[in-house]
Amino acid sequence: MRNDADALKKAAGILRASRKVVVFTGAGVSAESGIPTFRDAEGIWERFPRFLAAGWPGFLSAVFTSPRELIDFCLGIIEPIAEAEPNAAHRAIARLERSKEVVVITQNIDGLHQRASSSRVLEIHGTLFRSAYLGRRIKTPVSREAVGKAVRGLRKARRGRLPLPRLLWAMRPMLGIGLRGLRHPDVVLFGQMMAEPDFSQAVRASQDCDCMIVVGTSGMVFPASELPRLAIASGAEVIAAGLEKPELGLWLEGSAATLLPALLEEALGSEEAPGTATEPSRN
Ligand code: NAD
Repeated sequence: MRNDADALKKAAGILRASRKVVVFTGAGVSAESGIPTFRDAEGIWERFPRFLAAGWPGFLSAVFTSPRELIDFCLGIIEPIAEAEPNAAHRAIARLERSKEVVVITQNIDGLHQRASSSRVLEIHGTLFRSAYLGRRIKTPVSREAVGKAVRGLRKARRGRLPLPRLLWAMRPMLGIGLRGLRHPDVVLFGQMMAEPDFSQAVRASQDCDCMIVVGTSGMVFPASELPRLAIASGAEVIAAGLEKPELGLWLEGSAATLLPALLEEALGSEEAPGTATEPSRN
């Protein structure tokens, strides 16, 4: 179904009637915060060789074979995230907690749902704002300041000679060898296990909700792409807000930052307008 007034009304009715809501987001929810998606025209896949993003082996081999390309790639990923602010879609999703029991499941690594004040966020592909030690269970938070510092270091590294040492020096707030071993951003690359316990909790939340709102995902990344199927199989209604016709669910066609506030307004009325409630409440 297209994003006409009927579709919005129907989606609003579903949302209004639901108690437990899962909001499942992909790169599209952050596109209007200035973070490129993977598969759109200006996306990461178009701008960089795929082996760089495909997994740690490709990434690490590039350290020695093409450090300049790697600097550009790291900047392409990190710089927009370091500078991004939550947009109207992130904020609407956070406001939904005032009326519904909400779990946000995100494929994104940008931390924008938390910054918009969503309180229960499952990051099934990890986050740039944490590092992990290779082969160990130790994880440490990475601050926004540290990410910003890495960006400034990478910008300098791109201009200078000796790109490899400059790249490693620039990335040391997020990546490097220390007393506890090799530290790297705690993000899931292709072929890796999903981030736990978040993914197991995401599976349970998808089976337990009565409404799933899918926002800005191409549905091409497995096994994340199975979550809407799981929700439907468990009896939930699925609403899909985005630019591309989804495989499943009621389609609201348009941009996330326009659709999510409109859906909330239609479903829950002006009580959900920004700034009208001071305390989150749960029904
Ligand atoms: P994708 O790049 O495969 O697809 C993006 C989807 O968002 C497309 O369907 C596109 O039409 C839609 N879209 C683009 N702009 C939109 C907008 N303004 N409003 C609504 N929809 C819009 O992204 P994916 O499905 O999330 O899978 C890519 C993988 O890359 C994910 O695993 C994710 O972790 C990662 N990724 C994350 C970020 C981030 O953290 N912000 C950015 C890029 C990629």
